[in-house]
Amino acid sequence: MADTDPRPVLAPILGDQLTRTLASLRGRTKDDTVILMMEVWDEATYVRHHKQKIVLIFSAMRHFAAELRDAGWTVDYVRLTDADNSGSFTGEVARAMERHDCSAIHVVEAGEWRVQQQIEEWAGRFDCAVEILEDDRFLCSIGNFREWAEDRDTLRMENFYREMRRKTGLLMDGGKPVGDAWNFDHDNRESPRDDMDPPERPKFEPDEITRDCIELVEDKFGDHFGSLENFRWPVTRDQAEKAADAFFAVRLTKFGPYQDAMVHGQDDLYHSMLSTSLNLGLLDPLELCERAAKAYADGEAPINSVEGFIRQIIGWREYVRGFYWYHMPHLERANALNAQRGLPEFYWTGETDMRCMADCVRSTRDNAHAHHIQRLMVLGNFALLAGVNPREVQDWYLVVYADAYEWVELPNVAAMILYADGGKLASKPYAASGNYINKMSDYCRKCTYSVSKKTGEGACPFNALYWHFMDRHRERLENNNRVARVYQNWDRMGEERQAEYLESAEAFLDTLTPADRGWARSE
Ligand SMILES: Cc1cc2nc3c(=O)[nH]c(=O)nc-3n(C[C@H](O)[C@H](O)[C@H](O)COP(=O)(O)OP(=O)(O)OC[C@H]3O[C@@H](n4cnc5c(N)ncnc54)[C@H](O)[C@@H]3O)c2cc1C
Ligand code: SF4
Repeated sequence: MADTDPRPVLAPILGDQLTRTLASLRGRTKDDTVILMMEVWDEATYVRHHKQKIVLIFSAMRHFAAELRDAGWTVDYVRLTDADNSGSFTGEVARAMERHDCSAIHVVEAGEWRVQQQIEEWAGRFDCAVEILEDDRFLCSIGNFREWAEDRDTLRMENFYREMRRKTGLLMDGGKPVGDAWNFDHDNRESPRDDMDPPERPKFEPDEITRDCIELVEDKFGDHFGSLENFRWPVTRDQAEKAADAFFAVRLTKFGPYQDAMVHGQDDLYHSMLSTSLNLGLLDPLELCERAAKAYADGEAPINSVEGFIRQIIGWREYVRGFYWYHMPHLERANALNAQRGLPEFYWTGETDMRCMADCVRSTRDNAHAHHIQRLMVLGNFALLAGVNPREVQDWYLVVYADAYEWVELPNVAAMILYADGGKLASKPYAASGNYINKMSDYCRKCTYSVSKKTGEGACPFNALYWHFMDRHRERLENNNRVARVYQNWDRMGEERQAEYLESAEAFLDTLTPADRGWARSE
């Protein structure tokens, strides 16, 4: 009866729903709606987020609330430090219902399973209609992904991606892919060059709102991981668009070829650095992809870069979100390889002689960001090879990256890097020795360890750990035809050499100090 009821509708907007065209606002007027935005303690602390991540979300929320108010909407904004703040979404909706006497609650489904469980309880708890709307900022709904997944044995991203290309018409020429190929990965694996000089991304100086958030975070979360010195993330749609403009103008052309490259001290390379804005809702994924496709059509960027970028967004980003909802809540507990080691302390301190790991942790601490290959093939690869417990790795990734929300972090960590789902996402584990890191980076040149030395003192730890991993998971992996050749090589080595690898790996693993568990979620 909301249509005839003179009372307003309450529209709670969560921290990653900062989009003016959000489903719960469309079709509503400024007179019949009270928007509720909430900074709550539960969300700020369910893991001990990187300081930049908390500043980013609170600042973006405060800016968004100010924009809505300027546009004439009624926004009830609850600050973290408000005296009666109950600390939870449900508690704040209950208080808001008392303040506003609303006829109904309209809310867009949550990004994370944990929060969605809370929202689904509202109908039983509040004496009004509760409408949970689909988050149509994603191009593939949770229901559509389920339909796609249900009649398949394997859920490969490539098949999903091709359907998304057909559905959106992006880079399509009738029924055929533009350039006569669905992907150009073979052109996108260039090693870094010494003379590479990627342009700096735009940095957005903190304004008064952001400075207030920085002060708040220093005060309340001062012992959380990460530095705030380098805080320069876009916090409004305007700034996010400027960041996107800069990417399209100067970095897109080389995005493809150097997508997998890593250079010591060069943190952004040719990446877009747009994930924080996309995940907050400041940028629209389809608009970005259409812009990239136009850059190709106008001859401003090559197909391998444009296709690579579009694949990340309508392919990987949409796919992992569908995968998350399809496999939750089990995915959170998956541990197919029975990995039990504690997360090494150097994931927090960066204190290790492994130059690749130290640089990736440094970038993570300074920027709340590391790019995809650093997350996958250095930090992730090490956790996989060393057999670190998935829950600890998940918590780490959720804490340390400014773009981390469980719907995107968990599939990447549990399924992509740790193979904890037993191979539903990846056809084989992304395990690699030091050779891969050496080929794709300049890290090894000045490392204390020698990448060409396979075992013994001074040898790159990734080399022996790789074989240790393969050996301990032989039973599970040797029948996988994508890995079978690895075991033929292993067998050809002979027992003595194999023992050297295994002893080297074990000696290294014995040196690892596990981090304190104080920062992680309680079991
Ligand atoms: C272990 C691991 C954990 C990750 N955790 C997160 C996370 O918490 N949040 C997050 O947004 N991304 C995550 N990613 C994906 C990816 O690393 C980041 O999206 C990317 O580094 C963000 O930087 P960028 O915007 O410069 O990306 P670009 O390299 O410029 O890519 C463009 C966009 O594509 C999307 N994208 C690319 N790869 C992926 C992917 N594998 N999954 C989902 N989206 C993708 C992102 O939206 C990104 O902004 C993770 C990857 C790995 C391997
Ligand atoms: S030698 Fe090994 S540990 Fe050192 S940077 Fe290279 S891959 Fe990393």
